[in-house]
Amino acid sequence: MSYISETDPDIARALELEAERQDYKLNLIASENYTSRAVMEAQGSIMTNKYAEGYSGKRYYGGCEFVDIAEDLAIERAKEIFGAEHVNVQPHSGSGANMAVYFSVLNPGDKIMAMDLSHGGHLSHGSPVSFSGKLYDIVPYGVAEETEELDYDALEEMAKKEKPRMIVTGASAYSRTIDFKRFREIADSVDAYLLADVAHIAGLIAAGEHPSPVPYADFVTTTTHKTMRGPRGGMVMCCEEYAKSVDKTVFPGLQGGPLMHIIAAKAVAFKEALSDKFKQDQKQTVKNAKALCANLIDRDFDIVAGGTDNHLMLINLNKYDLTGKETETYMSNGGIVINKNTIPFETRGPFITSGLRAGTPAVTTRGMKEAQMEDVANFIETVIHNPKDQPVLDQVNADVQQLCSDFPIYKHL
Ligand code: PLP
Repeated sequence: MSYISETDPDIARALELEAERQDYKLNLIASENYTSRAVMEAQGSIMTNKYAEGYSGKRYYGGCEFVDIAEDLAIERAKEIFGAEHVNVQPHSGSGANMAVYFSVLNPGDKIMAMDLSHGGHLSHGSPVSFSGKLYDIVPYGVAEETEELDYDALEEMAKKEKPRMIVTGASAYSRTIDFKRFREIADSVDAYLLADVAHIAGLIAAGEHPSPVPYADFVTTTTHKTMRGPRGGMVMCCEEYAKSVDKTVFPGLQGGPLMHIIAAKAVAFKEALSDKFKQDQKQTVKNAKALCANLIDRDFDIVAGGTDNHLMLINLNKYDLTGKETETYMSNGGIVINKNTIPFETRGPFITSGLRAGTPAVTTRGMKEAQMEDVANFIETVIHNPKDQPVLDQVNADVQQLCSDFPIYKHL
């Protein structure tokens, strides 16, 4: 920090404010987390100075012998965590990892069956505003209206009718367990590739808290942040059969030099993910999500799909006559950081929405447990019932600050 203060006080100030925000606001963003200091040290390290186009032992630059150690370790540890045959740790992001898979085995215009954004899918699964929706013929699937869960028989019927080249499973806002084995059977029934994008649930999978797609999917992509608690970045896993084509697509197909400091940080995060502490935290993340959900249901909230099996839940706001957009602001006025989210069969646009997505990875990393989830549910309830009452929101803010002070971010890592 002292170097930045001297060189660039404006950025130093922004960093200070951001640190304060992270310390004293309640983070319920399901895709966020707090990395360890060791991960940040690797990210901010001298490996940022190194160009290393190519792969370990086969680089287009000299002087790569030490960054090779970092990349080899990241790959080795990812294989140990997930049991994958082949791993590429170079994608700069989760969207880039998905792009690498599509470009490895599909041609523009090929048909992809993937979860609709408004039902919980990700932009890179075929939204018309993303490269995926522009380049491929997308057949979106959703959850069943009655259960708000995936209906595997309906998916099979759709696959048989549409005959996609690839089926994408995985989501950004789906709270139930995904049956990857059933997805494999559906893909096999129409001879389609199966891509499982586990960006959200990778940490849970690493800790055995969600079934793994690795034995079933041709390709598994993930981000290394979110529940994985590593640096922001992406990763592709696949069987040996597709290894060469994935590697060639990532580099030189889509990217130039890999971010070696980020790859070193991925290696550190993967080492942490092999620890008992990480496994306990992932277990607690799910316990906390279930506890928060139960507390909200007790307070008469409508939870999409009736509950959660993972780290997140979707709150349907329709009964309160509030939009997701305005509620996100009201929550923020009470010190709660949460995001608006579309709900299945949404009637509003993606910038307004009728829902909120809440997740427990960040609060769990701070050390909060089931008892604190009751406090969190009380805060949410108070804001929803008093959205414009500033003195009430000020009190929530003060209570949130106190709770955050009781659970400092870096004490527990
Ligand atoms: N896949 C899923 C399921 C996601 O939820 C996300 C991010 O939210 C991504 C991919 C994309 O990750 P990135 O933001 O690193 O491109």
